[in-house]
Amino acid sequence: MITAGIDVGSTATKAVIFDGTIRGTAIIPTGWNPKEAGRNAFVEALVKAGLQEQDMNMIVGTGYGRVSLSFIDIKVTEITCHAKGAKFLFPQTRTVIDIGGQDSKVIAVAEDGSVADFIMNDKCAAGTGRFLQVMTGILDITLDELGQMASGRKPVNINSMCTVFAESEIIGLLAQEVSKEAIASGIVQTIATKMISLTSRVPCLEEITFSGGVANNPEICAILSAALGCKFNIPNQPQIVGALGAAVVGFSKVKGEG
Ligand code: ADP
Repeated sequence: MITAGIDVGSTATKAVIFDGTIRGTAIIPTGWNPKEAGRNAFVEALVKAGLQEQDMNMIVGTGYGRVSLSFIDIKVTEITCHAKGAKFLFPQTRTVIDIGGQDSKVIAVAEDGSVADFIMNDKCAAGTGRFLQVMTGILDITLDELGQMASGRKPVNINSMCTVFAESEIIGLLAQEVSKEAIASGIVQTIATKMISLTSRVPCLEEITFSGGVANNPEICAILSAALGCKFNIPNQPQIVGALGAAVVGFSKVKGEG
């Protein structure tokens, strides 16, 4: 029995092929055509798994762009999929924190893996991956370099709460010859602080699993882990958790459990 999960996100499209274990994965930019990105991610994951579309017992779509996928069997919300994916990887998960390209969420997970509660910030780019993308653009560094540069540095204060104003503030800091390392550290501190304030609205229960592309930044992981004070799980591929959850939902349905 084999299922596929496809998560068409605002920034990246992810696919997972699943047979009770992860057989193949793909992460590609969503770009301007979510339909094409969904198909391309699916095909890339199939190739990695050494399988074909007709081998799939069910294909499940999730993410904001799931409505544009015509080849899927069912659609499931990303909140449910993040909970299911995190629970599959770390069975003791009771809270998922997710920071993606254009939103951030805290999801309370019941013992059976269903969603007990959630809160989402999708109104403001500060506190999301988009903030990191804009700021690395100004610093002329990659997202991976941002993580390395921020490591162990004293952060400069970034006072602006809005991405547009923070952009001007950072240009000003560079003009004052504040080091890129201190600015990088200030940028990751800003994202982490936003997430910590979101967790005050949905209390975090142990264990916490961190999903979404921003969880690739080890410094943000370290700050959140220290601040939230619970067992804190970081998946090897945090960005595929939603697609994995979609494939897990499909797998349960094919087995007649969901
Ligand atoms: P979405 O589902 O909304 O497209 P994702 O969970 O796929 O979001 O995450 C996309 C975000 O991940 C991007 O905005 C980018 O900032 C962030 N990201 C990807 N790789 C890294 C990295 N190495 N360090 C920090 N952030 C990263």
